[in-house]
Amino acid sequence: MYDYSKDSRFAGIEPFEKKIWLASPTMHGEELAYMTEAYETNWMSTAGANINEVEKEVAEKIGCRYAVALATGTAALHLAVKIAGEQLYGQPRVGHGTLEGRKAFCSDMTFDATVNPVAYEGGEAVFIDTEPDTWNMDPAALEKAFELYPDVRLVVMAHLYGTPGKLDELKAVCDRHGTLIVEDAAESFGATYKGVQTGRFGDCNIISFNGNKIITGSAGGMFLTDSEEAAHKVRKWSTQSREDAAWYQHEELGYNYRMSNVIAGVVRGQLPHLEEHIAQKKAIYMRYKEGFRDLPVSMNPYDARNSEPNFWLSCLLIDREAMCPQVRGEKDALYVTEPGKSCPTEILGAIAAFNAEGRPIWKPMHMQPVYRMHGFITRDGSGRARSNAYIDEGALADVGADIFARGLCLPSDNKMTAEQQDRIIEIVHRCFR
Ligand SMILES: *Cc1c(COP(=O)(O)O)cnc(C)c1O
Repeated sequence: MYDYSKDSRFAGIEPFEKKIWLASPTMHGEELAYMTEAYETNWMSTAGANINEVEKEVAEKIGCRYAVALATGTAALHLAVKIAGEQLYGQPRVGHGTLEGRKAFCSDMTFDATVNPVAYEGGEAVFIDTEPDTWNMDPAALEKAFELYPDVRLVVMAHLYGTPGKLDELKAVCDRHGTLIVEDAAESFGATYKGVQTGRFGDCNIISFNGNKIITGSAGGMFLTDSEEAAHKVRKWSTQSREDAAWYQHEELGYNYRMSNVIAGVVRGQLPHLEEHIAQKKAIYMRYKEGFRDLPVSMNPYDARNSEPNFWLSCLLIDREAMCPQVRGEKDALYVTEPGKSCPTEILGAIAAFNAEGRPIWKPMHMQPVYRMHGFITRDGSGRARSNAYIDEGALADVGADIFARGLCLPSDNKMTAEQQDRIIEIVHRCFR
């Protein structure tokens, strides 16, 4: 391990006494009141006032007709992909997925929970490269993918780090090819595109209340749709597909995916604070942006004209010319420090050495060993062959690999003070000395 305390570039900087997190839960008090209410009224299972209320409030916030509260965002994604598969290809025999033998186009630079449900349903994710303007699915690469696989009918897209993707362009491509859309708004709850909430654009959509998200239930997720039939099915599937009979009667395969009324109490207490959390996250993003003005870096970009992110995570991207040599294996990384230059490995190491938490950019799916045999499409249609070429004499590999090589997530906890954030900004500056 490199000893930053002996590196004179960092002289005079004190480590944080209490760790600064990437993004940790921020509680307000109401959560405990609603949890206690569940306890005292003995609604401790997967039914109760908290569940009913959060479903109503989230549907209102998003502007969709139905919201179904589930155990996790991943569970919501699974059932979203499953219902889309069933709508497209019909009900499979028990023990078979709805997407068996089918491909689906998926965001490439995202958390693996976005794409795994395609595999849960027996399908094959084909990854679509990222555009540099919002770090989301590239509409041009998606169009290219339809040239190569014209039969695909399902697109699964995420909004990375709370920044809405190019929704008009993506939707236009999807409409042209008659696909269903599953929108993963797990990270972007509260973000808008042309004034409309993310989680409103696809046919079956989801948000997450995982502990690190913009608001949390400690866990939890929600399925969002305008389709009464889809909402009804997902609710039924999530409670073990029990039929309306005196005994346990099952006509379909079931899951135990429903949200607990205790968890829903936490979500219910958090919901009034969503906009406040977004404002705090935005202030953090803007402070970093200002603080890094004199460095050869940029912040994770967004389309300020058409979208308002929720600023869940602040990220930085190092200019290509300011990257010191850095090589990443599957689990380790090496770099050579150079004056005036740095790299994510060095900056993340420095941040950690002073007791704060950053994180590498989500490693693109096409670079993940678990998906190494899967298709990957760039806007020029030649993704897979070049996918392991990172930064190579300044040459752009695919966009996802490039952002992974040069980018990193900064400590973005909304309880971080301005003074603490200034110290992180200073640490980053010192890395470039
Ligand atoms: C967190 C996350 C999920 C999964 O949500 P969980 O509630 O943790 O299961 C899905 N997709 C993305 C993009 C996420 O960041």
